[in-house]
Amino acid sequence: MTPRSEIDETTARRGTSAVLRAMCICFVLAATGCAGTLASKAFATEAEASQPAGSTASEVSASKQGTVVLISLDGTRPADVTKERLPSLVALAKRGARAEGLIPVNPTNTFPNHVSLATGVRPEIHRLVNNAFIDPARGRFNRDAPHTWIESEPIWSIAERGGVKTAAYYWVGSEGPWQGGPGPSETRKFSSRTPEKTKVNRILDWLTRADPAQRPRLIMAWFHGADHASHLSGPDSVAVTRSLASQDREIARLVREMQAHELFETTTLIFVSDHGMVEAPRRINLAKELRSAGLRSSVLGIGGFASVVFDKGKKTPATLARAVAKARGLGLEAWLREEAPVDWHVDDPRFGDVVVRAPIGVAIISRTTFLDGFHGYAAREPAMAGLLVARGRGVIAGTQLGWVSGLAIAPTVLDLLGLPIPTQMKEEPIPGLLSGLERAAVAGGAAQ
Ligand SMILES: [Zn+2]
Repeated sequence: MTPRSEIDETTARRGTSAVLRAMCICFVLAATGCAGTLASKAFATEAEASQPAGSTASEVSASKQGTVVLISLDGTRPADVTKERLPSLVALAKRGARAEGLIPVNPTNTFPNHVSLATGVRPEIHRLVNNAFIDPARGRFNRDAPHTWIESEPIWSIAERGGVKTAAYYWVGSEGPWQGGPGPSETRKFSSRTPEKTKVNRILDWLTRADPAQRPRLIMAWFHGADHASHLSGPDSVAVTRSLASQDREIARLVREMQAHELFETTTLIFVSDHGMVEAPRRINLAKELRSAGLRSSVLGIGGFASVVFDKGKKTPATLARAVAKARGLGLEAWLREEAPVDWHVDDPRFGDVVVRAPIGVAIISRTTFLDGFHGYAAREPAMAGLLVARGRGVIAGTQLGWVSGLAIAPTVLDLLGLPIPTQMKEEPIPGLLSGLERAAVAGGAAQ
């Protein structure tokens, strides 16, 4: 297989020897140090409440201070949680909870969705609006320091300020302090070459540290998931099955070790993903089409969503109208950003001058896009849904969660950690991931 290069607007050149090292299509991170600007307070010892009688079917605990491990499998669909592809997650769901789908946010791309999972707010609020964008004042988004572009507080910052030590092994924006607070106490500089084995080793080390003051109670990690193989070969390809198999072995080892250390009583292990993936038989090179119409602009984004940003001095009411008409004429949905439907949630100039969405089955591409799998489509499309599987403290075995908003993950994690939920998070915590705690509290109360 030819090594591929993949970066934001996505360039995977089939059949050439041009090699930028393969990395997740939309995921390039660099760490800038780990210590937050606000010192983390002393780590409180975990309560060691014994498991209440009659609760063996679920790993419930009356402990008020739980630990949460949140792992993202990039670009992995709920449909990938099968015995063939991810048997360890199927087993995990049996002893815990599983959602039919995790509804992502628009645009359904890696960077904005990971930051929404971590902040509980939409991209137009946290402002890391897409994998590639241009800020009218600051210029082009720089992936070397994504944390500096976030403007809503991530859960690691809330936790650190609340005295909870946190650690991240790759999560968009976790490389250092964001604008208003600390990054995780421990973090890692991103490399797409880091295997999941290394990450699992580190997570187990974090979880089993003898000194509670050194043990993070919130751990977040990014795994390759299906994304890379799925982009290159399509979501139903053998390449995806193969790619997930090696990651599944590491997930199985993580679960096995957590079980051996009896960690599920105090720890909630949550797997999520940022978006789905779909094939697109029809391709449209939007940049080329606009150029041939005499419009001078940049097109940022591929797949289901793109922003058009006019070159300096080229933006007029007439050129804007022509760009919208041109895109619509190609079968795409297009709006002046300010006039876009409210549910597009593009109320931020970082989304550009014109916003364009493709229907499922059609992909916006660039000159160098040679892919078989795409995302970025409307978040309401079932094909764009992410996965959610969880087990451990708070989760009753066999729970079916139905459809869940990705914006509910952040408040749920805070609730599990016993931290207050800030007002900007509008979604309620997911009851199905907390019901075990209520049952434990009731059982504990009855026993007294
Ligand atoms: Zn992704």
